[in-house]
Amino acid sequence: MARKLEKTVYGLIQVFGPYKRVDDREHVILIDPSTRSRKTVSYPKFLVQEHLGRLLNNDLETIDHIDGNSTNNDLTNLRIVNRQQHASEDIIRRKDQELICIRCDTKFIKDIKNVVSSKKKGKSGPFCSRSCQGKYGADIQNGRVSKLGNNTPEQEYHKIKDNLQIESNI
Ligand SMILES: [Zn+2]
Repeated sequence: MARKLEKTVYGLIQVFGPYKRVDDREHVILIDPSTRSRKTVSYPKFLVQEHLGRLLNNDLETIDHIDGNSTNNDLTNLRIVNRQQHASEDIIRRKDQELICIRCDTKFIKDIKNVVSSKKKGKSGPFCSRSCQGKYGADIQNGRVSKLGNNTPEQEYHKIKDNLQIESNI
């Protein structure tokens, strides 16, 4: 049975997917049965375009994952940023940052991206090691300590992002 046609910003087409690539990013395959043309589009881009009801300008606009997690394609996590600014932002985002373990006060260096996403999930942290995190978890379970919360500092790139001209925060 033929897949039904969907009304999209690309016209009346068939949408297949989303499919995951090896790097975990998702894409959809769009097929126009009338012309037999086939197009692969990034799934977050597809979602945002459908949400806005227009195509993005590829030279100027790109999709940013607000939490830095490129696999989180929830609409609330997607927004459009200027392509050039996004590129410079990514350099800052990858920067490692000095953090202090909430359990043992050890200073450590870590890519803050992962630490911030666990903060957003309401998890305690940051921890210097898996061992510290595990011991903390056990202590909480046994009622030996009270919850410490999360002392992860604001990610540096947030400050820079605030100065960006963001067309649309979806
Ligand atoms: Zn520690």
